[in-house]
Amino acid sequence: MSELDARAADVAAAARHMLAQFPEGRHGRLHTHGAVHGIRPQAWIAGIVVPAPTCHVGSGSWDFTRLVPTTDPVTCGRCLHSAEHRTTPLPEADQLSLLDLR
Ligand SMILES: [Zn+2]
Repeated sequence: MSELDARAADVAAAARHMLAQFPEGRHGRLHTHGAVHGIRPQAWIAGIVVPAPTCHVGSGSWDFTRLVPTTDPVTCGRCLHSAEHRTTPLPEADQLSLLDLR
């Protein structure tokens, strides 16, 4: 096995470990705080499948091991409106009224 193949195997093992952290319905943050993204498997370098935000934010060259799993609901607007989330109802709008019509 070449060194490149060995490194690819290491990355693939890390990707499998991370994918296992995101079973169906598990969401994630790119940091320990901030927006909660929907997570889906995504083909990455050399066909290695990694967990990635549904909205594709930061999925170009970022470190997929930085994803933090959470059971918190998705708060990222782009993820909520993506095709993967269209089958689930959107949360109620939490928008304040500009006029008090009472
Ligand atoms: Zn998102």
